[in-house]
Amino acid sequence: MPLHQAIARDQVSPRPVYGPEFAARLADELAQLPLPGRMLRIAALGHAVFTTSLGLEDQVLTSVIAATQADLRIVTLDTGRLFAETLALIEATEAQYGISIEVFKPWKDEVDGFVALYGMNGFYDSVEARHACCHARKLQPLGRALADAEIWVTGLRRGQSGNRANAPLAEWDADRCLLKINPLADQSLETLQARAKADDVPVNPLHARGFPSIGCEPCTRAIKPGEPERAGRWWWEQDERRECGLHLSASVSGSRAQSPAHG
Ligand code: SF4
Repeated sequence: MPLHQAIARDQVSPRPVYGPEFAARLADELAQLPLPGRMLRIAALGHAVFTTSLGLEDQVLTSVIAATQADLRIVTLDTGRLFAETLALIEATEAQYGISIEVFKPWKDEVDGFVALYGMNGFYDSVEARHACCHARKLQPLGRALADAEIWVTGLRRGQSGNRANAPLAEWDADRCLLKINPLADQSLETLQARAKADDVPVNPLHARGFPSIGCEPCTRAIKPGEPERAGRWWWEQDERRECGLHLSASVSGSRAQSPAHG
């Protein structure tokens, strides 16, 4: 029997009451499953939304979702400042897998408000301005993308630098009141690169040009040999844990991190 039939939705009915304890048990369960099994188990839990930034990790997850026909919505956040290569990859991925990627964009008045206050590229001038830009262009659209979700699926991986080293396979996001699942948390970059190559997964050409982590164009640079994977993100800021805030609320053990922390 195909895996996607073996792990059917009615296996988890009635739906468990999700929370930190359930997330911990789920993390243990997911650790025992191969990647396709993980995605099918996740889809069986309820309304799951996978947010992709079209990076290597997310592209591998998309390929697994397509191959297993796991019932997840795939969404991406178009901040208005993405690389042309990233935008082109949305269509290429949809075409290759016959899937639809929902695109969420920032509200124009929110962006206009940021620009009026700080200037179009004011994020270079202060951490406050940078967080305001990420809020308008990323966090606000993310909130709409996750509005009806019970499960949020990400491509976080522990080997990424910053504050992701302890990312669990599953955690409870108390602020958003949903399960946050990171099916690649325990995967290595090398494993995913090999899988992408073997499965002919379309990847962003910027990876081959020194961009292991790709976000908005003005806030991402190529890294030098030996630098951490995310060193090219907001490189002018000093906080080594710097992120855009998407992955702030459900840090280790489901507690809120104290400093701005993706993308
Ligand atoms: Fe704005 Fe840069 Fe954040 Fe993108 S990464 S939303 S351009 S501050």
